[in-house]
Amino acid sequence: MMAALLLRRDKKSTAAHLKSDLNRTDNSSGVRQLQELLDSVLNPEKPPADTEALDWCKCLIAGEEGFEEFCKTVRSYDNATLCGLVWTANFVAYRCRTCGISPCMSLCAECFNNGDHTGHDFNMFRSQAGGACDCGDSNVMRETGFCRRHRLRTGENVPSVPRDLLLMSEMVLPRFIICIIQYLRDGYTEPDTSAERDLQKVLQQLEPQITFLEELTKMGGAMRTVLTKILTNQQTFKDLSMGQEENVFAKKNYENYLSALKNSGLVSVEEKAQNGAAEPTRGSETGALGLLGAAASSSSESSKEEDQDGQSIGQRKRVKLSSSTKDPSIMDSLKHKCFLEELLFWTIKYEFPQKMVTFLLNMLPDQDYKITFTKTFVQHYAFIMKTLMKSQESDTMSNRIVHISVQLFSNEDLARHVTEECQLLDIMVTVLLYMMESCLIKSELQDEENSRHVVVNCSEALLKNNTYWPLVSDFINILSHQSVAKKFLEDHSLLMLWMSFVSFFQGMNLNKRELSEHVEFESQTYYAAFAAELEACAQPMWGLLTHCKVKETQEYTKTVVRYCLETLQIWFDAIGFVDELAPNQVTFHLPLHRYYAMFLSKAVKCQGLDLESLLPDQEMLMRIMVHPLQIQASLSEIHSNMWVRNGLQIKGQAMTYVQSHFCNSMIDPDIFLLQVCASRLDPDYFISSVFERFKVVDLLTMASVHQNTALDGEQERPMLEGALTFLVILSSLRIHLGMADDEILRAEMVSQLCMNDRTHSSLLDLIPENPNPKSGIVPGSCSFEEMLSAVADFKAPVFELGGSMQQGMYTPKAEVWEKEFDPIMVILRTVYRRDVQSAMDRYSAFLKQSGMHTTGNPWPPYKERTPLHPCYKGLDRLLHCKTLHIVIFTLLYKIWLDHSNMSEHVLCMVLYLIELGLDNQVEEDKGDEEPCIEEHCHDSWFPGTNLLSNLHHVINYVRVRVPETAPEVKREREPPASTSAEASNFGQNSRRLTGNWRENVREAQVFSLVAERRRKFQEIINRSSTEASQAVRPKSSSTRWVPPGTPPQLVTEILEIHESMLSLLIKLHQKLSAKQNSLSATWLEDMDANLNRHAHGDGITAIERILTKAATRSHQSKRSIQEICGKVFPPVAPKKNSPTAKKTMDKEERRQRARERQQKLLAEFASRQKSFMETAMDVESPDTEAAMDLGASEVKESEVLYDCVICGQSGPSTEDRPTGLVVLLQASSVLGHRCKSDEAKKLPTTDEERIYPADTCGAAHDVRLALMQSFFKDSSCLQSVSIGWDGGVYVQTCGHTLHIDCHKSYMESLRNDQVMQGFSVDKGEFTCPLCRQFANSVLPCRPGRSTEVVSWHMPSNKKTSVLVKEVEDLQEQLGFFPVSTTTESNLSKEMELVIKDIKNTTQRKYMDYGKNPGSPDNDFLFMYSVARTNLELELVHRGGNLCSGGASGAAKRSCLNQLFHVLAMHMRLYSIDSAYNPWTRLTQVAPSRDNCLDDERPEVPMLFRDCPSLLIIFVLTMPQPLRKEHFICLVRMLYNLQYTQALAALSAKFSPEERQAWSTSGTLKKNAFNAEKSYEALLSHVITELSKVKTVYDVNTDEPSMLSSSVWSPQSIEYSLQQFCLPYLRLSCLLQHHLYGDNLSGCPEEEEFSGLAGCLGLLDPAPQPSNPMYSASCLDWTVSAFELMSQWCSEVTGLADTQAEKSMTLLVQDLQWASPHLLHLPDNYNTIFQYYHKKACTACKKVPKDPALCLVCGTFVCLKGLCCKQHGICECVWHSQHCGAATGIFLLINASVIIIIRGHRFCLWGSVYLDAHGEEDRDLRRGKPLFLCVERYRVLEQQWVSHTFDHINKRWGPHYNGL
Ligand SMILES: [Zn+2]
Ligand SMILES: [Zn+2]
Ligand SMILES: [Zn+2]
Ligand SMILES: [Zn+2]
Ligand SMILES: [Zn+2]
Ligand SMILES: [Zn+2]
Ligand SMILES: [Zn+2]
Ligand SMILES: [Zn+2]
Repeated sequence: MMAALLLRRDKKSTAAHLKSDLNRTDNSSGVRQLQELLDSVLNPEKPPADTEALDWCKCLIAGEEGFEEFCKTVRSYDNATLCGLVWTANFVAYRCRTCGISPCMSLCAECFNNGDHTGHDFNMFRSQAGGACDCGDSNVMRETGFCRRHRLRTGENVPSVPRDLLLMSEMVLPRFIICIIQYLRDGYTEPDTSAERDLQKVLQQLEPQITFLEELTKMGGAMRTVLTKILTNQQTFKDLSMGQEENVFAKKNYENYLSALKNSGLVSVEEKAQNGAAEPTRGSETGALGLLGAAASSSSESSKEEDQDGQSIGQRKRVKLSSSTKDPSIMDSLKHKCFLEELLFWTIKYEFPQKMVTFLLNMLPDQDYKITFTKTFVQHYAFIMKTLMKSQESDTMSNRIVHISVQLFSNEDLARHVTEECQLLDIMVTVLLYMMESCLIKSELQDEENSRHVVVNCSEALLKNNTYWPLVSDFINILSHQSVAKKFLEDHSLLMLWMSFVSFFQGMNLNKRELSEHVEFESQTYYAAFAAELEACAQPMWGLLTHCKVKETQEYTKTVVRYCLETLQIWFDAIGFVDELAPNQVTFHLPLHRYYAMFLSKAVKCQGLDLESLLPDQEMLMRIMVHPLQIQASLSEIHSNMWVRNGLQIKGQAMTYVQSHFCNSMIDPDIFLLQVCASRLDPDYFISSVFERFKVVDLLTMASVHQNTALDGEQERPMLEGALTFLVILSSLRIHLGMADDEILRAEMVSQLCMNDRTHSSLLDLIPENPNPKSGIVPGSCSFEEMLSAVADFKAPVFELGGSMQQGMYTPKAEVWEKEFDPIMVILRTVYRRDVQSAMDRYSAFLKQSGMHTTGNPWPPYKERTPLHPCYKGLDRLLHCKTLHIVIFTLLYKIWLDHSNMSEHVLCMVLYLIELGLDNQVEEDKGDEEPCIEEHCHDSWFPGTNLLSNLHHVINYVRVRVPETAPEVKREREPPASTSAEASNFGQNSRRLTGNWRENVREAQVFSLVAERRRKFQEIINRSSTEASQAVRPKSSSTRWVPPGTPPQLVTEILEIHESMLSLLIKLHQKLSAKQNSLSATWLEDMDANLNRHAHGDGITAIERILTKAATRSHQSKRSIQEICGKVFPPVAPKKNSPTAKKTMDKEERRQRARERQQKLLAEFASRQKSFMETAMDVESPDTEAAMDLGASEVKESEVLYDCVICGQSGPSTEDRPTGLVVLLQASSVLGHRCKSDEAKKLPTTDEERIYPADTCGAAHDVRLALMQSFFKDSSCLQSVSIGWDGGVYVQTCGHTLHIDCHKSYMESLRNDQVMQGFSVDKGEFTCPLCRQFANSVLPCRPGRSTEVVSWHMPSNKKTSVLVKEVEDLQEQLGFFPVSTTTESNLSKEMELVIKDIKNTTQRKYMDYGKNPGSPDNDFLFMYSVARTNLELELVHRGGNLCSGGASGAAKRSCLNQLFHVLAMHMRLYSIDSAYNPWTRLTQVAPSRDNCLDDERPEVPMLFRDCPSLLIIFVLTMPQPLRKEHFICLVRMLYNLQYTQALAALSAKFSPEERQAWSTSGTLKKNAFNAEKSYEALLSHVITELSKVKTVYDVNTDEPSMLSSSVWSPQSIEYSLQQFCLPYLRLSCLLQHHLYGDNLSGCPEEEEFSGLAGCLGLLDPAPQPSNPMYSASCLDWTVSAFELMSQWCSEVTGLADTQAEKSMTLLVQDLQWASPHLLHLPDNYNTIFQYYHKKACTACKKVPKDPALCLVCGTFVCLKGLCCKQHGICECVWHSQHCGAATGIFLLINASVIIIIRGHRFCLWGSVYLDAHGEEDRDLRRGKPLFLCVERYRVLEQQWVSHTFDHINKRWGPHYNGL
């Protein structure tokens, strides 16, 4: 009742009233009143959209002062010292590695800019998941990086909050929050329960309420404290939320809440207690062992998987583990004790609405809140992940989860706190397991039937979509904290659980080699598999490893290693692996192996542990070695095309596996583990295993023929190369065997730089991430930069011809090539084989350049290795074992004899192995002294295991088993008696033997690697007696590799060898050098010199080096070498295929093939041309001369001949078969963008700055024309100006000509040729067939003479007056034209066609300036303006003047002459009414025509007309070709007018006094001699005439007076007159140059006027030092100058007053324009980015998603934005049409890249902003500071001005108006 009363009152006064009530000591009545009021106001039954309740709350909280005021007051008590600004996705934030403690640290732009980070390693980034500013939080960043505001700790001086200020908030807000919660409860429906489930709608309705909460958090610390209290208070929650009240609605809500809990599979703790469910403890029954062991007995459940791709690949049976790893207390229970908890619950249920997330995060600066919230978050963690797995939009949800969790877990204190108190680690690991358990399948590895191992199914959505990443990233994040990681490493049950998690990935994504058919579907699951291993296994591993770096942490490592081994053992058992791999299987995923390897490496390297103590027994080592070795063999198989049937994806896997980015976690641990195994296992066993695994055992026989049952012939060589390369890598790589971190970094850097020059960023990308990829810190003491400058030189970015933009590059220093180039490291790190080749090419280029090796191709250099860590010394035994030596011997022998499948690469690797052996000696084993045992017959091959002593050991006989057809067999004198050929049965064969056969048999060696491996294996197994019983375990039948096909018929033969390795080496030396006795006996004398000389070179050098090494180290070897060299050898074995010869032949062959290819191409082109020709012939009339209707008097021999680039014929251009120039027509507004000032306009970067377009040439001309049109006759106006400043058509040519009919067939062929891309044939676009330049039209060439027919242009002595008359007569003679115009010839048709093309090139609006659209006057204006545009542009390209001169050749290459001709031909259609012919008014004093009708507007006065335009009009409208004397006459007459205009304009600049003075002084000279050529007299006359009407000079009196601060001198007057006339002279001169081929003579700039005047014949070429006033002496009057000028002036003064007012504006023309410039850009890109990336578009008022900036005019547009699309054209394209007549240059703000729009196409030009390393940063991915590259910007501007975008940039694409 009371409430009803209150409700009716004004809210504000009610609030005030209540507040005072509550402030009393006894506030019970106040409380009651408030409660009642709230009961009725905050009624959850009212729809949330009703904002009345919200208004009430605001008023109640604020009290009497009003909400705004209240906010301000509360804010003044803000004591927060943290920024805490929360942002969402796409926000631009900063990260400073120098200041950050946590790698996740981030700063808002404001805090970043207000802090001092100069010289820091920082970058800008675009937030993906959202984040919050860490400024002020010393847990996450160093205090030195705090901004000014948060460094001051403002909070400390803030007064404490008065009690009553927030009293109302404390009372009202709990009610408000429960109200929100009730809405959330009420609105929630389970996905499956209701059809009309619309969570978004509920959220939308609640938007104002949640926004209000967010507003509250922004009031600062004081309000946050209040909110924290409310949100975390358990009592309030209990009182308000439980629904105990009578309120039915509240009860219903509460039940809804409980059911939501239940439906989520959650039980509240109470309920569980009631049900008496016991909480099983984790670990007791769900340990890792139990988990794995139980897997096999699990029940399988078929899953109907919804694979979006609809492929059956994912249809595998899901396995459900019977013993669950789930700890129910983690997975299934939740209890809410405060508002915060339930709010978070609903936030999760509603899948993280953005507003809610922001609210929850905004509260984080409050420490109490942060702790409670973190705990709450952890408590809900399992529930969050479950929800995530079910979510339809897991991507968005993932981002929002991480947005929150990163804020909580980056803080070490907090993370440790929740780890200790809330079991965070247990929760995370359990949840991870839970997730992966949902998609397990039976492992197919080894024996699928009996496998008890389970792996994740990589085709499940969970893996494919990477849904687990938020969880994994949280886990990695908390493991980065030492205290947390220690907890993890100390907890054995957690470790076991983790290992069982890792084992889910062991052997996943198994590949089975397809043997018959190509795989039907190329599964892409390998992405998911690699991602899963790298993210879920490797990253946590690296995280853990960072905390195992010192002795003190030994125990951790031991524990991990122990569990790794245990889990591995379990795994081997589960997959049923004994000692043989199932054939044709490979998996790249062995995370358990890799964990083991990496912890081993750390233990030895950093923790001083003894390797022996961490290794298992021999049998286990033998097993561990199998799978990594199989990967290495498979890599080789994949490269040898043995897996082609599995599709491209298998290559993808191989490449990903070796990729330098991942190698740290993939190939490197594998190689290391194999090295460990090799160092402990029997070397003979290891070597035989390698060759067996690589399937090349059969190849390793001395026999010339062998049968390989496992490989095709063409695969043998690559596989053998692969095996040898692998052995070289294995025995030479030191990454984990003793190299320091700095050395590793250096080696990685060198190998990448050797492959290619690299940019800084790509190098940074290519260096393996280690150890913690997220930290961005490279290990070792030496920084990346220091190392880089030590090994590489910087090459500054350059702009290459051809348009490609080079970036700043790093290239290896010379001494690096000389000393550090390591081909083995390069091979290890290359994804593509061409990279190895590239490194070798670069290496040989270096050797050639430095003169170290100039002949032939050098071999990969041998590089000495750092010594092995003592623990791994055993690895060297690999190089000193008989098996390897037999292989080496065999291969050397086979290479010498040119057996098939041997290659240079094989020899190279063999030599490498020998040399490694020589350089890495092993201390002698006692074992070598053992006597030879008969069974181990191969032992007698060599006496011991030492390579040095085996080198000179001579092998005499070898027993081989060969097919009956082998040449060895044929050598026998009699055919073999027996075909059964039992090898052991010597007795039978002995019948056929010669006398000493029996002896030979004893000595002959037999060698079988397979037998060897088996024997050794048994030996080893038996040796480990403890394992003896297990060793005899039966092998599963399927695992034995049985060669297909019938066993070949083999016979045993004995070969006589009598060679040692040394003798074979020497023979190979002879073979390679193709010289008998290439090494003399005395060769070894100067050994030391040899060694130095031999660092670089080819195979010969390598052999010499090895021999020298052997000789220095062993006397016996030395003696042996000398002996062999001393012998005279019989002629060298036929060297038909010696490797070097082969190499050169290869090269020759390649060249030959290239030549053939080229010829074929040429032939194709020729045949195409021929077909053009044939089509052309059909229409051709051979009689070309007949068509020439030129005067017969014309000299024929001067006819110009053109070459057709299509048919190759040469001939004149004729009426019937015209030739044309290949041209590109394009509209241009470059001229229009010129300004008065030579300085480029500055791009605005603040709101204050602006660009005014009014002062551009285009705008000025528009204004002038509009002004004229408002007073004068339109047709007259249209002849008094030129247009085309904006949108004029520019014509360019590459200078090539073609028959127009040839061109047509060419276009036809292009139309059919779909391959042609990048231009549209329909629009007439093509590329010049000869030079490939882009073009779009053909400009017909006029038939007849060249421009150089001198006779035609000879200067005549006719008087000017005669010429003037002649010109007048010629103008009447319209219609005469050298091209037949009466009959439609092909030529005239083509000419009209090109005119059409020209018109189509630009937009309509650039052609229609007249008042009557479509009137011929418009067309007339447009046509002569095309000529003007081209002349003006040429002037611009010449630098704005003609001082640099130019030969007539230049005119020939230009197409202006031809263009003029075509235009003239078109213009003949128009005639100028003789009554209005300006020529009359220019040359005659005629009575003024005041007879015009009154209503008709006057013609434009001569003084307002544009002289260059008039010149062009005259030239074009007169009969062609125009005689030069007439041209000169035109120029002279127009110069008179131009000069008069100059005088008039000048006089206008005078102050009235000056004008008076000059007028007076000039009058005196009027009667002097030559007064008509005296500027004073003429100036005075003009002033007098113009002063006849007051208005002319009166109008802008104020303006000139401002300008005339200085007094005009004769010199300044002359200068001013010259400047005024110069543009006219330049244009005339250029025109003369093109029409008559006259040379342009260069001159100094200050003499340009006299130079040009002389060139035009206006001035005597002889210098006139006496009279520097050239300008007046150029005048040439045919009638009285004064009378003519009076007439011109009277045209102006005779105008009506209103018009006269404007006449001054029209008189004072601006004729000089500076060169065009793009906008001036700031040096630092950040200046642009900060201003524009959040600037709103002026058109749509929104901040564009892709903002762009026009670099010509500074307009800001929405790239691709639908918001600003009009008529189906996006804003950027639209702007390019209006600003640049279809050419646009835009800077994409968010990408720092420039795009060019040209018509319907666009291209990415590149960036003009580069980072400190000279690199672009497209899309600002790296976010490093960028600086303007002035050179690049100049290039851009130059391309714009010269219209060469089309030619220089190659990658164009259509934009479909969508930019
Ligand atoms: Zn901030
Ligand atoms: Zn700050
Ligand atoms: Zn910093
Ligand atoms: Zn042709
Ligand atoms: Zn060309
Ligand atoms: Zn623009
Ligand atoms: Zn826009
Ligand atoms: Zn827009």
